[in-house]
Amino acid sequence: MAEDSRVLDARYYMPAFSRTMKIVRGAGSRVWDDRGREYIDCVAGIAVCSTGHCHPKVVEAICGQAKELIHCSNLYYIPNQAELAEKLVGITGLSKAFFSNSGAEANDGAMKLARVRTGRKKFAAFAHGFHGRTCGSLAVTHKPAIREPFEPLSTPCTFVDYGDLDGLAAVVDKDTAGVFVEPIQGEAGVIIPPDEFLRGVREICDDAGALMIVDEVQTGMGRTGKWFAFQHSGVTPDIVTIAKGLASGFPIGALVAREGLEFKKSEHGSTFAGGPLACATALATIGVIEEILPDVAWKGERFMKGLAAHNPRGRGLMIGMSVGDRCPEVQQTCAENAVLVNCAADGNLRLIPPLVITDEEIDTAVGVINAALG
Ligand SMILES: *Cc1c(COP(=O)(O)O)cnc(C)c1O
Repeated sequence: MAEDSRVLDARYYMPAFSRTMKIVRGAGSRVWDDRGREYIDCVAGIAVCSTGHCHPKVVEAICGQAKELIHCSNLYYIPNQAELAEKLVGITGLSKAFFSNSGAEANDGAMKLARVRTGRKKFAAFAHGFHGRTCGSLAVTHKPAIREPFEPLSTPCTFVDYGDLDGLAAVVDKDTAGVFVEPIQGEAGVIIPPDEFLRGVREICDDAGALMIVDEVQTGMGRTGKWFAFQHSGVTPDIVTIAKGLASGFPIGALVAREGLEFKKSEHGSTFAGGPLACATALATIGVIEEILPDVAWKGERFMKGLAAHNPRGRGLMIGMSVGDRCPEVQQTCAENAVLVNCAADGNLRLIPPLVITDEEIDTAVGVINAALG
């Protein structure tokens, strides 16, 4: 059975991913593979399964809504959609929301909103930053290996070293629509910028009249111990984009913008985005995160303390360690010892477990990871 689906995959599925393991079941911070082996999951679908796998309140929301209405189109008012927008406005402190189906699409929407409201064309973003793989979001994603084969992309973007405010000031001008920034770089390997960085980006954007677009696709929804990572810095962005942890694995993305920044009639749209199932699932997810958010910071500290011998860096339950070339081997050894971890870019081991991970699971994972690091 297990081998069969590997054969089918090789024959019928485009080989864009490299993978070995098949995961067939999950509960809380645990998953099981097709051979019945159990793992503590410190990957969480890449920071997606925020409330853990198959949280009962999330399952109940999906099943309940599926029996009422699965889809109806944005031609009509959609159950749960305005309620979710209200919640996102509340937790971001911004003004209005708009939905998408993924993080990349949320960033595409932010790009369109920035262009249409500023009347400007170009963007700035940061080296090693990741904002998605659509033809829009790819233009502000740095990694040449994933961007350059698809050029020309229609959006002009200049990349600046992450943390380099002088470099940013030199490229942001009266033709810049917006600056895309991750508050902590996720795909790059959990790279934390200097404390005053976001405040500096805010000032540079204000001076030039450019919009500050904070990509919270990975850092948002409680991951760092606050609803959004920008909230550690005291600045307010013009636009925030959200996706991964928003609905515990059900696909949905969102952008939330400050007062005065909104799409007008026919300027943007999507067939599926903000549908009844996605919004019900996101609302249930937010309800669960509201209860566990106060625990995220100290759970992260417990993790970091356990890994202290290997110089971890992180905020809340977003933790990275420079491991170098042996990262894939460490990942493999951890899996053999029942803990899933993931190698982000440049030999950085990344831990982004479900926010519901227990003390006992953290301690077990720490033991396995330390042993694998040797
Ligand atoms: C994952 C990610 C994206 C892209 O999200 P998709 O849902 O894969 O399109 C964008 N920005 C950041 C910071 C991400 O981590």
